[in-house]
Amino acid sequence: MSENKTKVCVMCGKTIPAYANFCPYCGAKQPWLEEDEIKNTRVERIVEWRQTPLGRLTTLIIAFLIVMVFAASCRLQDGPGHKTVGRELNQYLFNSQPKTPFGHKPKIDVDKNKGVTITISKSSKAVKDLKKGKPATWNRFVSKIQNRSKAFKHVYANQLFSKFKVTAKDGKKQTLLKVDQGKIKYNIADKYQ
Ligand SMILES: [Zn+2]
Repeated sequence: MSENKTKVCVMCGKTIPAYANFCPYCGAKQPWLEEDEIKNTRVERIVEWRQTPLGRLTTLIIAFLIVMVFAASCRLQDGPGHKTVGRELNQYLFNSQPKTPFGHKPKIDVDKNKGVTITISKSSKAVKDLKKGKPATWNRFVSKIQNRSKAFKHVYANQLFSKFKVTAKDGKKQTLLKVDQGKIKYNIADKYQ
């Protein structure tokens, strides 16, 4: 690729082939350039170009793209966004409404190390009805959780997402329901049968 290598004429300043002994424009004799000097000239040109506004912008864009690719790969390793899973569950279980038969704004925590924890109120209609022998609302809730637990087992690589726990936020801290991979491990309703 010797035709790509150039230097600048010492006399007229025009760009001429790197190995030309005489300038093809003005005929001036050229000093001998070593291979390394030619390379250095090129490196200097790249450094100079990077300091121009366009060069700076290009460097910035390349750096930005590298960061974005890195961030995207981290996100993939992390699995689904916890917020997305939480939002979907809130829609499915509570219609995304603050007022529910399980109390005001039940809390849904999606933790990639602990699984899904749903915090409801013990003094809510669903729990009170359950204790009075009317388990319909509670049972519907349980089967919905079973459905999601079963589905998450196949959808998400993280098996902990199919581990559901329902706890009470009021009164004594109490577990009301435990479901793992679609199977009921504990259900407070068994007490009121
Ligand atoms: Zn010349």
